[in-house]
Amino acid sequence: MYRVTLIPGDGVGPEITEATTRVLEATGIAFDWDIQNAGEEVYNQEGNPLPDRVLESIRKNKVAIKGPITTPVGTGFRSVNVALRQSLDLFSCLRPCKSYAGAKTKYEDIDLVIVRENTEDLYAGIEYKKDSEGTKAIIDLVKKLSNRAIRNDSGISIKPISVFGTDRIVRFAFEYARANNRRKVTSVHKANIMKYSDGLFLEVSRQVAKDYPDIEFEDKIIDNMCMQLVQKPELYDVLVLPNLYGDIISDLAAGLIGGLGLAPGANIGNECAVFEATHGSAPKYKGMNKVNPLAMMLSGVMMLRHLGETAAADSLDKAIASVIQEGKNVTYDMKPTYDDPTASTTSGVADAIIAKMTN
Ligand code: NAD
Repeated sequence: MYRVTLIPGDGVGPEITEATTRVLEATGIAFDWDIQNAGEEVYNQEGNPLPDRVLESIRKNKVAIKGPITTPVGTGFRSVNVALRQSLDLFSCLRPCKSYAGAKTKYEDIDLVIVRENTEDLYAGIEYKKDSEGTKAIIDLVKKLSNRAIRNDSGISIKPISVFGTDRIVRFAFEYARANNRRKVTSVHKANIMKYSDGLFLEVSRQVAKDYPDIEFEDKIIDNMCMQLVQKPELYDVLVLPNLYGDIISDLAAGLIGGLGLAPGANIGNECAVFEATHGSAPKYKGMNKVNPLAMMLSGVMMLRHLGETAAADSLDKAIASVIQEGKNVTYDMKPTYDDPTASTTSGVADAIIAKMTN
């Protein structure tokens, strides 16, 4: 019996979470779900969208699976997802993007692994509002230090990238490559422009690569990487990126395999791991039993592997692959057209997968 923290999230989170726990339980592995709510409703009730009890539960159980959580745009509380990763030092965001036969996509045989640094960069949350004291002080300091003017009506986000943070994420990418028989790691950056933040990321990547002579290493500038991934994705294998580029490239890679509905993920630290789909809470579909639960289910497959339950992971992955290949019991986003009347519901996908595993 595994005690696992379960965060249903909001928007479509609760419905895909329910579908996911059902297929995970159908593998025969016993789970004792420690249910912890977080997000906007919790913020309204408890004054904090990520109460300490949630973090304590994950620290204790070491493993969590979560549905997406809405972040208000521009105003309101900071992202619960980012806070969770930072509070638990879940420094590595691992997002495999693999083609499944039968999925509706322009590409075949995609097999990429995105390793995104999760705690630093422009997502560190060090931001100064326009006209605030902090902003004024930074503008004055920059003027003094570099004689460069920042316009007075600016807002400022700070981009820290450290040797420590880069070393551990690049090492994680190489260790992952080694453990999973991958051939190449590509470090992605914009070191030609941001010489001291991305430049450091590249320099440390090169240093770490020397400890892994058995794995090919190369680097690519982020804009070129975007074009290359669209034109010849087969040339790439494991990509390691700072936080912001990693976020964007994760969605690009999800597009290559058929959309966000199929892109799983894990946030991994030295102590705990939190499994979640790449996609967000898709609020417009909330409560409609309509969206694709496969990305969260595939995150569940990653969780089973993390727990060492390889046979259960293989069995669930196989059942999911078979449902995708048949193309019958899949949601609207995987049908030839979005208004296909034969599209399955979220719970219908879970039923079909469970039937595969139990027959
Ligand atoms: P989103 O991923 O929620 O939705 C974008 C579009 O992708 C949707 O309109 C829908 O068409 C499609 N989509 C997403 N998930 C799908 C699924 N499972 N099945 C079928 N189609 C799916 O992105 P967004 O609209 O930019 O963000 C909505 C909210 O989610 C925001 O508040 C954002 O901050 C939050 N978010 C949370 C997480 C997280 O919890 N880790 C991640 C990303 C975004």
